[in-house]
Amino acid sequence: MKLGVQEFLIILVIVIIVWEGEQPFLKVNVNGKRFCNESGPYEFMLHSMYMQPGHTYVDIFDANNKEYCEQFDEVGCCRMFKFPNGAESNMPYDYVWGQMTEGENSHHGLGCLQKADTLEELAEKLNIPADNLVATVECYSELCAKGIDEDYGMAPHRMTPVDTAPFYGIRTCSWHLTTLNGCCINTDMQIIREDGMPIEGLYVTGDCTGGFFAQTYPNLFTGLACGRTMTFGRRAAKIVSKL
Ligand SMILES: Cc1cc2nc3c(=O)[nH]c(=O)nc-3n(C[C@H](O)[C@H](O)[C@H](O)COP(=O)(O)OP(=O)(O)OC[C@H]3O[C@@H](n4cnc5c(N)ncnc54)[C@H](O)[C@@H]3O)c2cc1C
Repeated sequence: MKLGVQEFLIILVIVIIVWEGEQPFLKVNVNGKRFCNESGPYEFMLHSMYMQPGHTYVDIFDANNKEYCEQFDEVGCCRMFKFPNGAESNMPYDYVWGQMTEGENSHHGLGCLQKADTLEELAEKLNIPADNLVATVECYSELCAKGIDEDYGMAPHRMTPVDTAPFYGIRTCSWHLTTLNGCCINTDMQIIREDGMPIEGLYVTGDCTGGFFAQTYPNLFTGLACGRTMTFGRRAAKIVSKL
């Protein structure tokens, strides 16, 4: 599929990097309704989110969120605790939480986290319907108690109730992880024209290149995007410097 400049730019929408927002916490749309399996692959989440009003959603979690983040046993960049082999995560929980709470209840920087003693108050701060949020949380907590997500099939170890104040909510939306389409390259890292001929002297790698993730972004293959960037970048440098 060939994309024009406009479509290419749409893929580059980046909104907010909030590691808490990548955790499989309960997510509701702006009507306070749950809409997906929060622990599914990135693409499933993003497509579900895109179909919601305003293309946005809200993460809802509670005072036990640190314990739950560890329990989620996340992979890749989402992980905020040491890996089973002892390797450090790239973002430790305490660092992320410090950033998130620095501007608590403000709308500046990463301080877009809302905190409240009741779900009703939280809904008001998030500008979503309180009755719907309360009903959704009640329903979700019942499913958590059963240990089976009858609505969306979430992995049981990632089902965590929202029952301990203070409650937190954060509005978020799409993430730019990489480029799905864009400039096609040849094996020498040169951009190729529509007729397949390279543009002499122009080399690209990483997110500037297209096609690599056009079919899927396999988030269980952690490090593939960064690995592609570095490997292709090294190759481009070697070619340019004729090493
Ligand atoms: C939240 C999140 C989580 C991710 N998790 C993973 C993961 O677990 N594993 C994985 O493999 N990938 C992950 N990715 C994807 C991966 O980070 C990117 O695909 C990769 O960083 C792309 O590398 P890049 O060098 O092409 O672009 P970037 O890393 O974006 O680097 C581009 C650089 O260019 C600089 N720049 C921009 N404009 C200019 C200018 N005019 N002049 C000079 N410098 C400029 C920018 O400041 C930036 O430093 C994640 C991405 C995000 C956003």
